[in-house]
Amino acid sequence: MRNLNRVAVVGASLAGLRAVQALRREGFDGELTLIGAEAHIPYNRPPLSKSVLQGDDDVSLPGAEDLGEDWLRGRVAVSLDPVGKVVALDDGSTVHYDGLVIATGARPRRLAEHPASVHTLRTIEDSLALRAELNTGHQRVVVIGGGFIGGEVASTARALGHQVTLVDSAPHPMLAAFGTDTARWLARHHRSHGVELISGTRVVGFGGGSRVTEVRLSDGRSIPADLVVAGMGVTPNTEWLEASGLTVEDGVVCDATLYARGAADIVAAGDVVRWPHSLYGDALVRVEHWSNANDQGAVAAANLLAGPENAKPFADLPSFATHVHGARIQSAGLPQLADEARLVAGAFEEGGFAVGLAREGVLVGAVAVDSPKDLIRLKRGIGSSLDAVAA
Ligand SMILES: Cc1cc2nc3c(=O)[nH]c(=O)nc-3n(C[C@H](O)[C@H](O)[C@H](O)COP(=O)(O)OP(=O)(O)OC[C@H]3O[C@@H](n4cnc5c(N)ncnc54)[C@H](O)[C@@H]3O)c2cc1C
Repeated sequence: MRNLNRVAVVGASLAGLRAVQALRREGFDGELTLIGAEAHIPYNRPPLSKSVLQGDDDVSLPGAEDLGEDWLRGRVAVSLDPVGKVVALDDGSTVHYDGLVIATGARPRRLAEHPASVHTLRTIEDSLALRAELNTGHQRVVVIGGGFIGGEVASTARALGHQVTLVDSAPHPMLAAFGTDTARWLARHHRSHGVELISGTRVVGFGGGSRVTEVRLSDGRSIPADLVVAGMGVTPNTEWLEASGLTVEDGVVCDATLYARGAADIVAAGDVVRWPHSLYGDALVRVEHWSNANDQGAVAAANLLAGPENAKPFADLPSFATHVHGARIQSAGLPQLADEARLVAGAFEEGGFAVGLAREGVLVGAVAVDSPKDLIRLKRGIGSSLDAVAA
């Protein structure tokens, strides 16, 4: 372990918490400062689009309570000077470090013109505000974006008895992430659960003033709405690094060991990171999944303590699960890199199924619906030939 006296961790959510825990576990006993923009103890985001909307308030993150009061809550890092090794905060104070962990995550993308009454979903406040509206009688809900957040919100809103329209710009929801056949299955799945799905269409505006009452689409249609939720992906929180000289391109660009490119004392973890993944020919990837932030937080911190020469590459496979209208959808690897998708177990129309996704014949990802064992089998085969795995 190299000799670091002061470590700062910026971002007090999943990746930041795991970094702090790993620092302590690995024996770091110097000064540790955790800086977090939110006022809450670190909490779990996946329930925010699922159980919380249905009335369950449990968002606890194991281990978060052990942080005690030992961090700067509700404090935003506004700039970084990597030469002087100083983080400046929004109250004018500064934090000096010998080692820095960047874990500032991401925030929802917003529409160019984003009315205040259009909900997005990232924080506990966002989720409680949406829940309050979902609980005020039956409504016409319009969800913009058919990704995992949009799909989960549509599914929950239907379960609560609302009329739901899902508007997605792709020909089928989750097309890039799942491949054509699975995305077509998902479209049918939404429709068979009463969602009006409008694919291949963009939202171009709103009517109704401060309270949106209508959503205008690129095909000229207008949809009446009582409640609008936008789930259009996320933007990494990197503005505070703009003048730092670090390479920031859709995230903090890191090397394979999660060290910020060219920096010997700065690592990054979670949704904010882009790093070269060895299983994908060292293509730079950014992964917005819980398990990635969970595992990277620990690895980045251990690598910071080990020093760049002794740091280990992070090459875990991305994996993700979501529930939509009762179906458990899991994915592994990077299906979006694939040029071929093949059904390898089950059938699209009954029970569950699993699809292997390959690039130039080599398995790069997998998607499974209600077939967890097939997903495990496919996940193990990532990097091998699709023919061999499908046999
Ligand atoms: C509604 C929802 C449902 C999800 N469901 C799933 C799921 O089912 N499965 C799955 O795998 N993943 C899911 N995810 C994704 C998963 O929660 C994220 O991948 C994970 O939270 C990333 O953790 P992180 O610590 O990298 O970033 P974040 O959780 O985004 O945390 C970053 C923290 O840094 C703070 N911060 C930002 N900028 C600054 C600054 N300048 N100074 C100080 N603090 C700052 C932020 O306020 C935030 O608290 C979901 C996400 C959401 C929002």
